[in-house]
Amino acid sequence: LKKSEKKGTPATAESFGIEISSPERIIFPELGLTKKDLADYYAQVEPLIMVDAVERPMTLIRFPSGRTGESFFQKHDKGTFGPHVKQIPIEEKDGHFEDYLYFDDIRGLLACVQMGTIEFHGWGSRVAKVEYPDRLVFDLDPDVGLDFGSVKEAALLLRELLKGLGLESWPLLSGGKGMHVVVPLDASEDWPTVKSFAERFSRAISEAEPQMFTANIRKEQRKGRIFLDWLRNQRGATAVLPYSARGREGAPVAAPVAWDELDRYESGHHFSIRDANELLERASSKALAGWCKAKQALPDA
Ligand code: ATP
Ligand code: MN
Ligand code: MN
Repeated sequence: LKKSEKKGTPATAESFGIEISSPERIIFPELGLTKKDLADYYAQVEPLIMVDAVERPMTLIRFPSGRTGESFFQKHDKGTFGPHVKQIPIEEKDGHFEDYLYFDDIRGLLACVQMGTIEFHGWGSRVAKVEYPDRLVFDLDPDVGLDFGSVKEAALLLRELLKGLGLESWPLLSGGKGMHVVVPLDASEDWPTVKSFAERFSRAISEAEPQMFTANIRKEQRKGRIFLDWLRNQRGATAVLPYSARGREGAPVAAPVAWDELDRYESGHHFSIRDANELLERASSKALAGWCKAKQALPDA
C-alpha cells in the first residue's frame, strides 16, 4: 500500500485511492466539519489508527446523515463496501457462522467512512486468532455528575492494582465521558479465561473500594460511583479503537495518553478530529512511544 503523496503534503482519502462522495456533506454541524474532513483525519492518522484497527473484527457506527441524524451499528457486510473490506466467518452461540467485517489496511477503513461510518469499535482479538484476545479493556463509566478527577483517580488506582498482578496498562481517553484502561495480552488465553479474570478482578476491586467502584451494570447501583464495565471483555464485545472519531458534539476522538500526563486532562474528550497533527507528534514523543506495547500474560489463577 502506497499513498501517492508529495513529500510534506498531508495524506487525504484520495491519496490512498478512496474516493469520497458528497465530500462537502456536513457531519459535525457544530463545527462545520464535513465528510471529507473526517475521511482526511483518518487518512492522516493512518499509521496510528491501523496499529489497532488492522485485522480486528469490527463494529461500525454509521451516521449516514451526520452525527445528529439517525445512527446504527453494523458488524456484517455482504460485500457492499467494496474490495478493501473483508469478511471473516465467526461462529455464533447457536453454532452457525456469520461473516464479520474487518480490514487490513487504511483503504478498508476509508471505504467504511465513505459509507457513512464515524466510529470504529474493535473486538479484543484479531482475525488470525479470534478465540484468543490480545487485550483487556476496563471501561470506566462514571455516574452522571461525577467529576473527571474521580475518573482519573480511579484509573490510577486500577493501574496500581494491575501492576500488583504483574500487568502493565495504559490509559485511553474514550472521546466520551470516561476513560478506558487497556491491558495488552499475548493472546495465550481464550475468551472464557480472560472474561473470568476481568470479572473477578472488577468484583474484588469494587468490594475493596465500594465508595469508588461498582461492578454492577444497573444504573441505580452507580450513585456517585464508577461502573467498572468488565463486560467489554467477553467474546463478541467491542471497545472503541484508539484514534476512532466519536459521533458526539465537537468531533472528539478516542486518544491514547500517558499516565504521567493525566493531570492536564479535564475530560474524556480532549482531542478532536482537528488535532491530527498534534496526535501524530504526540505518538512519536517519548511519553507515548511505548503505548500499549507489552508482551504479557494473565497471572495464574
Ligand atoms: P464513554 O466514555 O462515554 O462511556 P465509551 O466508548 O466507553 O464512551 P460505553 O457506552 O461505555 O461508551 O461503551 C463501551 C463500549 O461498548 C463502546 O466503546 C462500544 O464499543 C461498546 N458498546 C456500547 N454499547 C453498544 C451497543 N449498543 N452495541 C454494540 N457495542 C456497544
Ligand atoms: Mn465507557
Ligand atoms: Mn460501558
